[in-house]
Amino acid sequence: MKQKRDYYQVLGVSREATPEEVKKAYRKLAHQYHPDKNPGDRNAEERFKDIGEAYDVLSNPEKREAYDRFGTAGPGTRFEGFGDFEPGFGNIFDDIFEGFFGGRAGRGGRTSHRGADLRYNLEIGFEEAATGVEKEIVIPRLEPCGTCRGSGATAGSQPVVCRACRGTGQVRYSQGFLTVSQTCGQCRGEGRTIEHPCQACRGLGQVKAERTLTVKIPAGVETGTRLRLGGEGEAGVRGGPPGDLYVVVAVKEHPIFVRHGDDIYCEVPINFTQAALGAQIEIPTIAARTTLKIPAGSQTGAEFRMKGKGFPNARGYGQGDLVARIFVEVPTHLSAKQRDLLEQFARLEDGAGSPLVQGFWDKVKSLFN
Ligand SMILES: [Zn+2]
Ligand SMILES: [Zn+2]
Repeated sequence: MKQKRDYYQVLGVSREATPEEVKKAYRKLAHQYHPDKNPGDRNAEERFKDIGEAYDVLSNPEKREAYDRFGTAGPGTRFEGFGDFEPGFGNIFDDIFEGFFGGRAGRGGRTSHRGADLRYNLEIGFEEAATGVEKEIVIPRLEPCGTCRGSGATAGSQPVVCRACRGTGQVRYSQGFLTVSQTCGQCRGEGRTIEHPCQACRGLGQVKAERTLTVKIPAGVETGTRLRLGGEGEAGVRGGPPGDLYVVVAVKEHPIFVRHGDDIYCEVPINFTQAALGAQIEIPTIAARTTLKIPAGSQTGAEFRMKGKGFPNARGYGQGDLVARIFVEVPTHLSAKQRDLLEQFARLEDGAGSPLVQGFWDKVKSLFN
């Protein structure tokens, strides 16, 4: 594996660069290092690929954020094909490269015959993550051309062995004492060329398609869970196997629940009278409401654990709990009547009812003796 270079360095922009600055830097470098302007220059070719990869990440706010945080644009992401669900990328790509390569045909073909992996970010609700859910998603991807069955050659014709490299995909030339081997420019390393391209796919062997898929999200998934759908990525080149599709789950936040592992935490405010006198309160769970009995004399921070009312474990290890953590709200406004009653109550207060308060002032007193 070659060492990955910092994408910001590759484009020569600062980490704070605006999207416009990123785009501008990319356009300039892409023209400068384009293989057609630097024939036979492998360094320029590598540079050109790096630039494309860096731009793919830095031009996409989501990928850029992931890259800034984790140093990678996320699992399963490959920077080939048009499978990144980012219309802006496709457009700028097309308007720069149309004519250079005659579309996208050449890219990737010489490095891999397997189709590119795709990534789809899917947001689901908190409850859906707990119960599991089926979702329909629409994937734009490359599929084998039906007209030529992926060969790229028009009906009745076949791709022929490349004359320039005699099918090896490599050409050699001498430079002083050295013999240099280079990817064949005629067939771009494929070893074959198409003399009569298929009309439907312009010889690419692949067509853009939108495919609707049903994805089963198992119960217990969390943000970042990656589901692999084997073979649902982009079509392979010239009959190669398709790539995979990775569905990356993001779970929406819940207004009152917070998830920790398989447990769900819920902060429940109660009145100070409920805390002092005890109370039965109704609290929601994922499935239904449930009654929580708060004993008299409960303090802020007390936790009540309801077994089995949390998330199911995604690997099948049982079920988490729902933990209700109470905190006591002291009234911020009192009516005249309430104030009067509380003043009566205050006159009746003694140490026995509030042992912590009593204990604290006993210690303070001992400091002065
Ligand atoms: Zn075709
Ligand atoms: Zn060739």
